[in-house]
Order: sequence, then C-alpha cells, then structure tokens
Amino acid sequence: MDTAEKSLNFIEHIIEDDLREGYSEDDLRFRFPPEPNGYLHVGHASSICLNFGLGLRYGAPVNLRFDDTNPTKEEQEYVDAIKRDVEWLGFRWENECYASDYFQQLYDWAVQLIKDGKAYVDSQTSEEMAEQKGTPTEPGVASPYRDRSVEENLRLFEDMKNGDFGEGEHVLRAKIDMASPNMLMRDPILYRVLHKAHHRTNTDWCIYPMYDWAHGQGDYIEQVSHSLCTLEFLPHRELYDWCLDQLVSEDKLRPKQREFARRNLSHTVVSKRKLLKLVEEGVVSGWDDPRMPTISGMRRRGYTPEAIRNFADTIGIAKRENVVDVSLLEFHVRDHLNKIAPRVMAVLDPLKVVITNYPEGEEEWLEAENNPEDESAGFRKVPFSREIYIEKDDFREEANRKFFRLKLGGEVRLKNGYIIKAESCTKDEEGNIIEVQCTYDPMSKSGSGTEESLRKVKGTLHWVSVKHAIATEVRMYDRLFNDPTPDAHKDKDFMEFVNPDSLNKVTGYLEPSLKDAVIGDRVQFQRLGYFNVDTDSTSDNLVFNRTVPLRDTWAKLEQKN
Ligand code: ATP
Ligand code: MG
Repeated sequence: MDTAEKSLNFIEHIIEDDLREGYSEDDLRFRFPPEPNGYLHVGHASSICLNFGLGLRYGAPVNLRFDDTNPTKEEQEYVDAIKRDVEWLGFRWENECYASDYFQQLYDWAVQLIKDGKAYVDSQTSEEMAEQKGTPTEPGVASPYRDRSVEENLRLFEDMKNGDFGEGEHVLRAKIDMASPNMLMRDPILYRVLHKAHHRTNTDWCIYPMYDWAHGQGDYIEQVSHSLCTLEFLPHRELYDWCLDQLVSEDKLRPKQREFARRNLSHTVVSKRKLLKLVEEGVVSGWDDPRMPTISGMRRRGYTPEAIRNFADTIGIAKRENVVDVSLLEFHVRDHLNKIAPRVMAVLDPLKVVITNYPEGEEEWLEAENNPEDESAGFRKVPFSREIYIEKDDFREEANRKFFRLKLGGEVRLKNGYIIKAESCTKDEEGNIIEVQCTYDPMSKSGSGTEESLRKVKGTLHWVSVKHAIATEVRMYDRLFNDPTPDAHKDKDFMEFVNPDSLNKVTGYLEPSLKDAVIGDRVQFQRLGYFNVDTDSTSDNLVFNRTVPLRDTWAKLEQKN
C-alpha cells in the first residue's frame, strides 16, 4: 500500500502538527521498545508496524530498544527471538539499544536528583509504603524518611549500589507530591535492590531502575521524538514528563510520550505472561507452536510477513481498546497465499477409487497448472493410474441434486484429468464404504482439446494416484481457545477456555511433486486450504501444517448461532 495515499491516523496527525509548529523532519525519530521477557505476539506486530511504518513514512530512523531493567524475567533467548521476529516482519532498525547500556547514566542522574533534594531513600517495607499511598480521593501520608539529609541519602544510595543491603531493605523514591491526584506522582519508586544477575550486565549492578526512571531517559539519550506506547501508560505520562524535566537541556530535543490502544485478537490471548503460562503448562509445544499468536508461531504456521503487515495496516491504530476478530487476520493470510502459493493435490481422508477400464500397470503424467493467479508459476506433471484416492467426503452412494461431488451413477471431473463415473462401491462388514469402482472417459482429458474434454460436469475433485502418493503427517489446527475473549471473564481463568481439540494430526496423501519440499514451503492443497512444511520435517518424514482453510468455517458457524 502506498503510505502517502492513506488517510492519516491520529498519531500521524500529532506528528504533522508538530512539523507545522517547528519540528523539522530531521527531528523525527522513533523506537520499538520490547521487554525481553517473552516472545513477540500479534499485538506487538501492531506496535512494530506503527513505529517502523512512521519511520518509512517520514524517512526517520527507528531504534530497537530492549527495555531490560528487570533481570528476574529477562533472558538472552528472548532478545534473539525478538530481533529475528522484527527482521522477519521486514523492518530494519537504525540502532540496537538497551536500557541496560544506560545504567551508569541513569545512576548518575539519580545521584543528581538526590543532590537537588528531589529523591530520597525510603527504608520502609513495601506494605508500609502501600498503606501511606492514600487513595485517588485521599492524599497519601509522607514517609518518615522523606526528609533525610542529602548526605545520608547519597550514602545509603551508594551502599545500595554496592550491595550492602538485601532486597526490599531500601528503595530510592522521587520526592514529588504525596497529595497528587495522580497516584503515580506520590513519590514513585525509582530504584530497587535486586540481587539477580542480568543477561547483559551480569552482576555489575544490584540496583535496577524502574520503568519510569528508564524509559523517558532512554528516549532522551536516543533523542526519540515521539515515544509511542499503549494506553495503560497514559497515567505515567505526567511522571515521564517530570523525570524529563529533571534532565532536559535547552539544546536537545525533548521526547513526547503519546498513547494508543492495545490490540486484542479474538479467540486468543496477547500477553506474554499468559502465553508463557501456555508454554510452561505444556498446553502448546513452545513459544513457536503454530497455534500461538506469537510472531514465531505465526511464521511456523505459514503466515507471511506481508499478510501480518497488511492486517496491521487495515486495523490501523485506535484510541480505545477493542477486540479484532481473528478471521480478519486469516483473511489477509489467505489473500496473500492465494497470490503466491503453488497449487498441489493432497487427500487427507482417503477413499480408494479403482478406475476399472484403465489398464492395470499403466500410468500417465498429466499437465497441471501451478497457480492460476500467477502465470509465471508454470506447470508441473502429476501421475494418474488405475487406483487413486479421493476424499471420503466427496463420495456418496445416494445424494440429492445439490451434491455436485461423486455419487453412484454420477460423473465428476478429476482435477487436471479425466471425467469419471461411479459404477459401484464396496463396503466392509460395518457398512463403511471402502472402495468405489468407476469408469473413466479416455477422450475427456483436461486440455486435450476434444469435445469430451470441454464437456461440463458439475463437480471437480482433487485426487492422488495411490501408488505415487507420499504419505505425510499433516497437522490440522483449530483455535486455541473456544471463547472469543478468553481473558475477559471476571469469574473464570483464561486457561479454562483452552480448546482441547486445537491440534489434530492426520496422515495425508500428497502428489509426488512435493517430495522435494523443504521447511517453510507454502502450498495450497486444492479445495482444502493453505499448508506449509513444518520445522519438525526431515527429508524422509515431511510434516505439514494447515496454515488456514480455504474458507472461513467459523464465520458460518457463528452466524448460525
Ligand atoms: P505484554 O503484556 O504482552 O507483556 P507489554 O506491553 O508488557 O506486553 P512490551 O515488551 O513492554 O510488552 O511491549 C513493547 C511495545 O509493544 C510497547 O510499546 C507496548 O506498548 C507494545 N504492545 C504490547 N502489547 C501490545 C498490543 N497488544 N497491542 C499493541 N501494542 C502492544
Ligand atoms: Mg511489559
């Protein structure tokens, strides 16, 4: 999509106003600031597309900033996964930055704050401090340590840094206003003691800054012009500005925090904490399980970066939270795969068909178009022989006129092949149909130019030749949660809504052209859906994922209900 032609979103309006009021385009700079405490999910994709999209629109640099101020939850594995995911989505960051790179600077600024009489060491328990906080309508009570001398504060803060205290013994608080209507301004904590090794600074530090004493400062150091975050940070904006007031100098650009609504997707959860729970409790096989709404899960499932970006562009950004239906994401996945995925034939629930008038032992290779949406995709050959598989669902002994598939006495066309007619069928002892006997019309071959080849029959079926078929594992996925908003129930935990049937493994029979498929390849199994080769595949044992069915069966179900 040409970004210049789209109408502006409200963040772009803010930027346009700033440009009119004195910012130059060179002042613009953005960042995407993940905390490396989990894998990125589809909600982050929105934030990535917003920030990097602004970078593209204005030709401005965008930093990737790791907000790594809490060593208890952060890991290098997550840093690596985040970088991989942002790159895979198709974006390039200007600088790779870390809040931890600023620890010394943040400490020095905190020391200055103490010297200015704007911060103090509090030695109460967290419970005591919570009690003094007051309520939104009642002012808080000052800590008995609020008026410690600068000297004592400096000494204690240094001792905190040097590891002389245990966790929770002391914290550094900003001295702002215990009566502020904004509870976050009632002497917020800036530093706490944590005796935890950090994935980058190791044991260099045992005090760590809080988000509010790191984020705006990071923005300032990197000279980010617009620091975009989700709405839950709206009440933090006043504190963000207060912290900047303490350090901004005239000749430097002052970052602005602006907020947009978090994106939620139906039938799933988008919170790293909740996704981690799914991983830890073994509900899924890992962060990249194809059922996960993580970027790595969607990649493994066969979604394309283009589809995810188009989805993010379509929903845009909002000022209020809402839930976007997952079928809109699936629509974009189908829309893109329709253009790029080669068509192949695969049967997932086989019923054997014997073509009784086709000579035994003979075979022929029929020409098949790879992608009607893309001429350059060319053609391939598919083998035809006396015994083929069709889908069980595509045959009935008897059916009404609206059943355009195969029934006794009826005709269908085999995709890329001949017209066949069902003559009889065989059943097992329980009455299940186990084989259908058909005859074929040798003159009706697709594309042969004969009158019979042009003859119209109502149904066209996909099929594979039994003796040429490759049997593979095919993983059929359904939604991970049965409920559209699993984490929005007050009385129930989201885990109660896990769909026990979200994964169903079947054996599929594939046309032999797929024998050389490699991990990541995406195809359309005709009439069934889009599939890709899973990372569990080996050259002897292919595993396919169903990326998305051809049609949205849920939408129909939900309309009925
Ligand atoms: P989670 O609750 O999943 O841990 P988070 O907000 O704590 O999310 P961060 O790593 O701190 O995750 O987020 C990085 C950036 O992505 C932030 O600017 C955040 O506001 C944004 N972001 C996170 N979740 C969403 C979402 N669902 N929709 C839009 N933006 C999001
Ligand atoms: Mg977070």
